[in-house]
This record gives sequence, structure tokens and C-alpha cells, in this order.
Amino acid sequence: MEADVIIIGAGAAGLRAAGILAADGLSVTVVEKDPQIGGRQKTRLIDGFVVDEGFHVFNPQYPEAEKALDYAALDLHYYDTGACFRVPGKKQGQPPRLVSLASPLHHPQRLTSLFSSGLVDPPSVAACIKWFDPQLASTRTYSFPTGNPDCTLEEGLDKAGLTGPMRRVFDTFFSALFTDWSAQTSNEFARVMGWLFLAGRAAIPGRGIAAIPAYLACQATSAGAQVLTGTEVVAVNRDETTPSVTLADGRTMTAKVVVVACDPDGAAGLMGTTPVPMNGLSTWWFAVDGQPHPSKQPMIDTTRSGPLSSTVVMSNINPALAPPGTSLIQATAAWGRSTDPAEVAEHEVRRHVADILGVDTRGWDLLARDDLPHALVFQQPGRPARTPTVDGGVSVCGDWCHSASFNGALLSAEQTAAAVVDHIFGRAR
Ligand SMILES: Cc1cc2nc3c(=O)[nH]c(=O)nc-3n(C[C@H](O)[C@H](O)[C@H](O)COP(=O)(O)OP(=O)(O)OC[C@H]3O[C@@H](n4cnc5c(N)ncnc54)[C@H](O)[C@@H]3O)c2cc1C
Repeated sequence: MEADVIIIGAGAAGLRAAGILAADGLSVTVVEKDPQIGGRQKTRLIDGFVVDEGFHVFNPQYPEAEKALDYAALDLHYYDTGACFRVPGKKQGQPPRLVSLASPLHHPQRLTSLFSSGLVDPPSVAACIKWFDPQLASTRTYSFPTGNPDCTLEEGLDKAGLTGPMRRVFDTFFSALFTDWSAQTSNEFARVMGWLFLAGRAAIPGRGIAAIPAYLACQATSAGAQVLTGTEVVAVNRDETTPSVTLADGRTMTAKVVVVACDPDGAAGLMGTTPVPMNGLSTWWFAVDGQPHPSKQPMIDTTRSGPLSSTVVMSNINPALAPPGTSLIQATAAWGRSTDPAEVAEHEVRRHVADILGVDTRGWDLLARDDLPHALVFQQPGRPARTPTVDGGVSVCGDWCHSASFNGALLSAEQTAAAVVDHIFGRAR
């Protein structure tokens, strides 16, 4: 037997499960098909710029992340709270303008500027309060599933009676967060994530998003786990006492339990099930001389006058992402589940960023374009979290097993690790 536990997949979930199980005294081997760890959280160095694969935001308010990670070691750099919205001019015929909205939980003194922005009136405030649900406010944590009846975000906002400019702010903010243009994501999930973003302050690790799985891998290997990259599993063989995996090179590895911690497509391929639907996005990364805009917030165009769901001057959040005297800019288009990213031409992206930031983008250097059709799990309304079990010696974990976020991936890993320990030791944790 190669190990007590074989974990397939070195993304956040697999690495977190490995760290917990190894710390519990089990021998653990993680097998990863890619040459590097990290799964969907990857970062590259391109011409001296630190460039994530696709646009990622880390919310330090995630409770499972607070448990699993050391924020000082990750050298977190923080966004300003809230977001900057491009909205129509105050009067007809006036050009669109940028309005920076801060979280009222962090900056109650800026509530007056919210009212003078022209975006908010008493009915929309009442609708926002109705939608957010003050009960969820008292927890301000990731209490999902909430147990409330669910519907789509679109239906939830309709029911709350949110219309007008504030509705466009909500629609575009959540389409950027969930990469879902059509607001078909779970309303309950949106409310929990909405509270977390109001209560927290988005951040990025100093060396990019890949620092997070690197930290989890370090925790796991320090506790004794082994991580084998470039090792693809092609079959999982169920057996109550000695399950095994078949590798692409034909070898077989046996264990007491096999944990499938793959992405939805990978897991479905190995388990013979239907993959959960996912939302896609494309991110264009630009290198620019100087600083095109000073904002430290994500910038979102509520007028939807182009393909982008958000753009951010990343080096304003962390100057070390770009060489001195230059800036790193991300521009992301959310695809949902249906659009073909190849349809958007780079010149449309440049034009849209130019409209949002109010600068000429024609001379900007394109560092990378990431087309990621399977980036985030689509959180369908009412979809329950899976109950972690060990069946035929095999268990599963990953964001798709719990909820569509990094926090969901970690939570699923913890729950699965507990089920594995129960199975092996026959005891409750
Ligand atoms: C561009 C982008 C932006 C995102 N932004 C956010 C965000 O802002 N906030 C947030 O909360 N979440 C965000 N997410 C989602 C978040 O990254 C994921 O929820 C989380 O990383 C999922 O971790 P995981 O371990 O469940 O899956 P994965 O990271 O997909 O890991 C699965 C691993 O299994 C491996 N694997 C698959 N099949 C096999 C096989 N047969 N053999 C061996 N190995 C295999 C894969 O190579 C992969 O390494 C974003 C994702 C993307 C792509």
C-alpha cells in the first residue's frame, strides 16, 4: 500500500485535506496531473510582471481561509473597500461618470456621499435592506447554505423591489463576482457573499494568487504529506478496504481511502458522473508606463457599454506586481456558461478600458490573454452542499461539492478529511 490516503488533485481542496490528514498522523500522497500545484489558482512571471491566470480576488473575511492560512506570511495587499462604478451622467446628454462607493460598514461617514451620488433614493435603500436581510448581517460570516428558500439573484432582486441605478450597480457587481451576466446564480449565495464583501476588504497576496496553494502545500508537506506533480490519474478503482488509482503511465497505487479532489470536469471523468456547470471568463493583462488611474478599487461599468465586467489597476493594490515606473492592469469579461470568448476582439477591450479609466490605451502592451471557460462553479439556486462520505473506499471534495468559492473548497476539504478520519479510525474527530 503506497499511503493511507491518496488525494487526486493539488488545488486548494486537495492540499488543505492533505494538510489536515497528515497532521492527524496519516500517510498522505497527493497526485497532480499538472507540472505545478495550485489548480485554478496560478500565477506567472511575464516580462517582470506578476500575472495571475485570470483575475482573482481573495477575501480575507472567508472563515475557512482565516483558519487555514497565515495572512502575514502571505503578505496581503488590500483593495480599498467597495468598488468604483461607471454610471450614466446625472442629466441627460451628460457623459458617464465614475462613482466610488465604499462599504458603509467600514466608512459610515461616507453614507452622505452615497446619497449625493444620484444612485440612491429612499425606495432603493429600503429595497437593499430588504434584500440583504438584517438577520444575515448579524452573522457576517459564511453561513451557507442558509436554509432559506432560494431563487435566482434576478428573482431575489425583483422581489425586493430594487430598480433604477442601484439595481444596475447590484447587477453588474454580482455579474463580475460570479462571472454570470444573467443573474441566474443562487440569491441566497449572493446575499452571503454580499455581506462578506461589505464586511471584509478584498486583497491579493504579495506574490500573486498562487501563494495561497503554495502555503497550503507547505503546510501539508511539513506535516509529512508527499505531493507528486505531473502524475495523472486515469481511473479510480473502488474497494471497501483497498481502493486504488491507475496512473496514466499504467502504474497502480493503493490506499485505505482515495480522495478525488479534482475540478468538476476531472472529478466527473473519474467518477463517471455529470460535471456541475461552470461559468467562464477571459482576462486581458496589460503593461503600461506610469500610472493610468490612482483607484485602488475594482472598476465596474454599470452602463455595460463594452464586453468587460471589471478592470483593476493591480499595481495600485501592490506596486511589486509591476516593475518600477510601470503599472499592471487587468480587464476581465464574464462569460457565464454560454459565450464564446474568442468573439471579443482585443480592440474592443482596449476601447472599453479607455472609456472606464478615461485614458488612451492604444499604446499599452498586452502581456497575456487568459480564456478560462471553466473558472467558477455556477452556484445554482437551491443546490445543496454534498454530505461528505467514504463510499467503496472513495470520497470527494472541492468547491463544487460545497459552494462556488475558495472558502467552499476549503470547507469541503475539512469536511471530507473528517469523514476520512472517521472511516479509517472509526472514531469521531
Ligand atoms: C480566474 C479565476 C478567478 C477566481 N476568482 C475567485 C475569487 O475571486 N474568489 C473565490 O472565492 N474563488 C475564485 N475562484 C474559484 C477558486 O479559485 C476555486 O473555487 C478553488 O481554487 C477551487 O479549488 P479546488 O481544489 O476545489 O479545485 P481546483 O483548483 O480546480 O483543483 C483541482 C486539481 O485537480 C487536478 N486534477 C484534475 N483531474 C486530475 C487527474 N485525473 N489526475 C490528477 N490531477 C487531476 C487539477 O489539475 C487541479 O490541480 C476563481 C477561479 C478562477 C479560475
